[in-house]
Amino acid sequence: MTDSIAENLRRVQDRIASAAIAAGRKPEDITLVAVSKTKPVEAVAAALAAGQTVFGENRVQEAAAKFPPLRAKHPLSLHIIGGLQTNKARDAVRIADVIETLDRPKLADAIEAAIAKEGRTPTLLIEVNTGSEPQKSGIARDDADSFIDECKARFGAALVGLMCVPPQDEDPRPHFTWLADRAARHGLKTVSMGMSSDFEIAIACGATWVRVGSAIFGAR
Ligand SMILES: *Cc1c(COP(=O)(O)O)cnc(C)c1O
Repeated sequence: MTDSIAENLRRVQDRIASAAIAAGRKPEDITLVAVSKTKPVEAVAAALAAGQTVFGENRVQEAAAKFPPLRAKHPLSLHIIGGLQTNKARDAVRIADVIETLDRPKLADAIEAAIAKEGRTPTLLIEVNTGSEPQKSGIARDDADSFIDECKARFGAALVGLMCVPPQDEDPRPHFTWLADRAARHGLKTVSMGMSSDFEIAIACGATWVRVGSAIFGAR
């Protein structure tokens, strides 16, 4: 497992670099978030041993079980990338370096309160439900501008960008382009988009972070 994860990481990094260069961008301007959800701690350790330091997890509880012991031994950055319940906000603020899924005023309230209690401020991204899918988390497109302004006022420099997960059965390009354009309009530098199946397209559309799971850790 250790060898194949290291090999997969190398391959994904090469593909990121090629996609960046093809788009006239610098490979080092794109950060790989290795999505380790459902995978054992040994898989994360193998990725750490191969030099990967940025990880994404969907569930706060799973992240809280896996990451604190690893963090004691390695410098790493933990991103929460799954829809967040308000009652998990405090745990998320305690354990995460980045919360990519701020998506509603109630969650902003909960995160703000958690920041005050924990005395630490994670970096924040706003998730937008670009495909208006009812089952998905993310602020509605039409509400995005006002929510971004509100979160900027509340969180200041901690708010760095936008994130999306386009509908599975659609061309992701219009979603990626919309998100990158919206981030630029708001002066937000980070655009988190692209997964195993479409990260090269996301890079062509302006992604600065790509979230890749199965291409590194294998199928779930
Ligand atoms: C699981 C997940 C990913 C990674 O998906 P893969 O297809 O395994 O690369 C990226 N982003 C989010 C929000 C996810 O839930």
